[in-house]
Amino acid sequence: MSNYVTTPIFYVNAEPHLGHAYTAIAADAYCRFQRLRGHEVRLQTGTDEHGDKIAAAAAAAGITPQAYADRISALFKEMAGPLGIAFDHFIRTTDPAHRRVVQGALARLHDQGDIVLSDYSGLYCRGCERFLTEKELVDGLCPDHRTPPDPLSEQNYFFKMSRYQDWLIDHIRQHPEFITPERYRNEVLSFLSEPLEDLCISRPVSRLTWGIPLPFDQNFVTYVWFDALLNYLSGLGYDPAAGGPAGDVARFWPRAEHVVAKDILKPHAIYWPTMLRALGLAPYWRLHVHGYWNVNDTKMSKSIGNVVRPLELVADYGADAVRYFLLREMSFGLDAAFSQEALEARYNSDLANDLGNLVSRTLAMAQKFTAGAVPEVGEEDGQLDRELVAAVGRLGQEFDLRLADFQFHRALQAVWEVIGLANRYIVVNAPWELAKDQGRRGRLSLVIYNLLETLRHIALALGPVMPETARLMLTALGLGGVDAQGRLGQWGGVLRPGAPVKLTAPLFPRRERHPEETSPPAGPVAAKQASRQEAQAKGQPVADSPGLIDFDYFKRLDLRVATVLAAEPVKKSDRLLKLTVAAPEPRTVVAGLAGHYSPEEVVGRQVIIVANLKPAKLMGIESQGMVLAAKDGDRLLVSAVAGEVAPGVRVS
Ligand SMILES: [Zn+2]
Repeated sequence: MSNYVTTPIFYVNAEPHLGHAYTAIAADAYCRFQRLRGHEVRLQTGTDEHGDKIAAAAAAAGITPQAYADRISALFKEMAGPLGIAFDHFIRTTDPAHRRVVQGALARLHDQGDIVLSDYSGLYCRGCERFLTEKELVDGLCPDHRTPPDPLSEQNYFFKMSRYQDWLIDHIRQHPEFITPERYRNEVLSFLSEPLEDLCISRPVSRLTWGIPLPFDQNFVTYVWFDALLNYLSGLGYDPAAGGPAGDVARFWPRAEHVVAKDILKPHAIYWPTMLRALGLAPYWRLHVHGYWNVNDTKMSKSIGNVVRPLELVADYGADAVRYFLLREMSFGLDAAFSQEALEARYNSDLANDLGNLVSRTLAMAQKFTAGAVPEVGEEDGQLDRELVAAVGRLGQEFDLRLADFQFHRALQAVWEVIGLANRYIVVNAPWELAKDQGRRGRLSLVIYNLLETLRHIALALGPVMPETARLMLTALGLGGVDAQGRLGQWGGVLRPGAPVKLTAPLFPRRERHPEETSPPAGPVAAKQASRQEAQAKGQPVADSPGLIDFDYFKRLDLRVATVLAAEPVKKSDRLLKLTVAAPEPRTVVAGLAGHYSPEEVVGRQVIIVANLKPAKLMGIESQGMVLAAKDGDRLLVSAVAGEVAPGVRVS
């Protein structure tokens, strides 16, 4: 079976946020799960790069739309690695191959009379890039943008979506899995109970030039959605002129699944299937719709830092903890609340306490009681052992069922039930007591074996969600990659008696609430070190000749090339910009660049930073480094190296 899974292509008018990260993580975890089941899987993500918002943002930044799109698209592509997103294809709507597919599809639908020219007058929202119906308005305003739409009358091309309405209703009724969770299926069916209007698919070039020209009328470019949705096919090498599906389309399209947030339900559940039908293709298999992350801003600013950007979270907690939190905290389909307190709490209780302790206790006991190896087992199972084995067996079924259905939170709940049971199994069996009794060595070996075997299943289950954690756990058990380690829930037969198991560093060291408040080391030596460090931090040379520094002192400066991933003004400051830079790990640097550079102008640039400068709070934001810049009279120019290099490269 060949699964084809997509995230939406992300619109390049803004930097990646928590919602983007969630969609991509959910899609990635599902793909990893299908790969472990032995399926061939293709994960596609990418960026949506046309439209007047992009043109406007590019103009504001003083660069071409293509250069602007290149810059932001790269940010989305670079987000994938730190979040552990293993995509197979990254598509951009400015790719020439994609443009050809869109033009071919438009020509075909125009030839068969599915696209027609018609007059249209209505209320146009510039933010939405579409005409709004009277019904959609709230107090005369666009509900999304809170701005009044402009009355506009013009000729445009329309896709005759209404032709396919009855077919679509039938298809949704006959395929309960087509749109999930069910609430969104109901929402679409309710919308379809009213007659569908035809879909305006063009914009006059007088108003928008940054788009794909209609092949049959050079006075128009195509509307963003018609361009964007076709990425799911163009990414597979679709040929609109061909009679039927061929190549990768034939291979992957029958099992095509789209993962989206609820704001783009209608284009995916209505425009897209009718477009596919008109093109003579089957609809995709399933659409998975998730809710929004609500972030309470005031609450966020009170906590340690302003932490809602996915890369900042990863820098702070690690990718696996962020992936776990997002998938565990949100019931797929419903809205969820993000707060750093909730993340901190799950990290400490679920990861550090429950999982981390189970792993380190088990491995420590194997070191101590069974000579750091998988023990030989001869003893008969008791009631407690059978309970544990049965729970692992149930986990195998439950986990498969839930993950196949995008119920990540339920799947993870099931894993944590086994973790809880294993922790109780340790307490009840008290291996340290068994060890005192020579006559109970057999029982001790069985308990240790059962715990190691339970860890193996927990690692197998965590593989899709926390790939690095799973890898570390399996390595500790003396096993290789996640893929060749037996089937989840099938007890025994993989761990070999006598094979060494390794003690690892804690997987999730407990986080202290305020690490900066811990007291410095006491005593005269520490005091001397502190004062020396203080002198260095204040920039005072510690060499003997005044005004000159030793090479050793210079070597202590960690100067690095950093790529600016994101930038924003700092509230209540007309001097500071808050930058997120990759060096190569993402970090926050507050820089006095405002007034000289707009946030848009610095995003994508490579600058030189002092990477080991002691973190300092500026306007309440912790800055982890300093951007080097030259001040020349009134001008301020940021530092750079003479060509593009990998982020994090050292400057010396
Ligand atoms: Zn709007």
